[in-house]
Amino acid sequence: MEILANYINGELSKPQSNNYIDDQNPATTKVFAKIPLSDEIDLKFAIDSAEKAFPQWSGLPAKERAAYLIKISALINDNLEELALAESIDTGKPIQLAKTVDIPRAISNMEFFAHAITQFSSESHANEKSINYTLRKPLGVVGCISPWNLPLYLFTWKIAPALVTGNCVIAKPSEITPYTAFLLSKICIEAGLPKGVLNILHGTGPEIGNAIVQNKRIKAISFTGGTDTGKKIAEISAPMFRKISLELGGKNPALVFADCDLNKTVEELVRASFSNQGEICLCSSRLYIEKSIYEEFKSLFVEKVKNLKIGNPTNAANNMGALISAQHLEKVKSYIRLAKEEGGHLLCGDEKLELEKENSKGYFLRPHVFENLPNHCKVNQEEIFGPLVSLNSFRNENEAIRFANESDYGLASSIWTNDLSRAHRIGSKIETGIVWINCWMNRDLRTPFGGMKNSGLGREGGLEALRFFTETKNICIQF
Ligand code: NAD
Repeated sequence: MEILANYINGELSKPQSNNYIDDQNPATTKVFAKIPLSDEIDLKFAIDSAEKAFPQWSGLPAKERAAYLIKISALINDNLEELALAESIDTGKPIQLAKTVDIPRAISNMEFFAHAITQFSSESHANEKSINYTLRKPLGVVGCISPWNLPLYLFTWKIAPALVTGNCVIAKPSEITPYTAFLLSKICIEAGLPKGVLNILHGTGPEIGNAIVQNKRIKAISFTGGTDTGKKIAEISAPMFRKISLELGGKNPALVFADCDLNKTVEELVRASFSNQGEICLCSSRLYIEKSIYEEFKSLFVEKVKNLKIGNPTNAANNMGALISAQHLEKVKSYIRLAKEEGGHLLCGDEKLELEKENSKGYFLRPHVFENLPNHCKVNQEEIFGPLVSLNSFRNENEAIRFANESDYGLASSIWTNDLSRAHRIGSKIETGIVWINCWMNRDLRTPFGGMKNSGLGREGGLEALRFFTETKNICIQF
């Protein structure tokens, strides 16, 4: 069995405690690796080495820092097949998704921020008497904490802007899906990344995650994960006046109008609902459909959902793999029971699942579609993060907007209509940080990414990320 290691001061190392936890394949339930349980002693070594590396790393010309990221990106590309397979085994996600979305995006994250830093400029404000210019300096040692659903994709999305802006990084992947972060450590060694610039610590949230957040030597935290964890991080960070970026949960609405391109909309919304088993923060889970096309939409949607193939995630023919863990499977099942109690009518999901022998104990679940659930019920309000969606109808535009905005979350939404004016109108009224019109998860890395309300604080992506990882200083010169 493989024993994973931390990456500290440019080397792979054991945790000081010598304690490990299991890394399980959710599609087979087999334990295939051991994950270091890091603690404050490992963190101290990591911060010491990061602080030592900081003066030289932050003093390099941006182009030289960028060159390391380009090298890392090329090595991820060279190892795409291995990384995609590892991601599929660790998360239960379909191999095709890992090959076409997760790993390519990790490559783009590294490349994008490597190029972005060479184009980063700052403002100058001149008036009759003086000129001001803005400097943006790296913060020092920063923390990046990421979740299990898009492991390497989100890990690199944080690390890349932190590094190119000249910071040194303490990064913690999810203890549920650490494997590709471990492979990234080896890639960084191969790329010759200077010692201490990036340190990857494995372990649990309450232990090493919390230790990172509690540590005053960490100047900023970029966090992606659940809203409750984000709240804890905000509470600990506030008295330190530390910068935080929080990318949290969602309960994303899709508004479908009678004038949409129905077949395309159905196809895209099946993808938006059930990609990665519904375990993407951006997945649509509340689908609101204009009354006049509700029945037609419903029958097309349910038919397509029933045709999704579920099974061994490493078999490229399958559209959906396993959920992440027994605990998460139980959570989603509890919402299926709740949906029935709340008066929901199940349209599909209870058919028997045929699985290969080695997957017979895996955490698989058919996609579930409910209707008739009131908007304020728990199933329509709480983040489930699994293959369960609810269909609801609306009578007019105002009602659609009201339904969509009746939520504590505000991450992403989608609007399906051929009426351009309506699309703009709703786009500006809907309370989400990201609005897609006639598409879903169409990403341009230059755009601001993040949520409002309980979905987070701050924005990542493009210049927003470069600004987050730097301290802004204004210098004023009188003529
Ligand atoms: P989580 O909050 O349980 O864990 C996320 C990370 O935080 C993990 O690395 C975990 O070990 C660590 N952590 C846990 N407790 C901690 C603590 N007290 N201090 C410091 N670190 C701690 O979330 P999860 O279950 O891994 O991920 C699922 C959640 O992430 C969902 O709510 C989903 O919507 C959200 N998510 C949001 C985005 C986004 O961009 N907004 C993207 C992906 C996932």
